[in-house]
Amino acid sequence: MNKLPNRLPIVPICFWCGKARKTIIFMEIESVRNSVTKDTNKAHIDYVPCDECEKLMDGGITVIEVDKEPYLGQPYIAEGMYPTGKWSNVSDKFVKDKFSDVDSDKIIKAGNMLMCIKEFRDMGLDLEKDNLN
Ligand SMILES: [Zn+2]
Repeated sequence: MNKLPNRLPIVPICFWCGKARKTIIFMEIESVRNSVTKDTNKAHIDYVPCDECEKLMDGGITVIEVDKEPYLGQPYIAEGMYPTGKWSNVSDKFVKDKFSDVDSDKIIKAGNMLMCIKEFRDMGLDLEKDNLN
């Protein structure tokens, strides 16, 4: 059996909390060269949440703060939008209070939304310390 050439065993780091996820992914060295940390082959490679963050995110509507520029040289999460690492979980009631009926229905159905830094701050989401990572 051939060994995988030019591949590194990468431990993906959860973008949302910074902890290592419980998996190993073999990736081409070239594709991860710039994102691997000095700490043994750990890297931000995507936005898949770890089990812990996934549980938290499932508990409400996840509001993800985004900026127009990458924060850690990471890929965009939607075209021209890069998560800053701040996120918050809000209730359906919060969404209904802040958005029109049509918009809140869409947001609740999606279960998450991206929000620019200014709006995130204006809604007080950056002040809810318990919800920030
Ligand atoms: Zn996490």
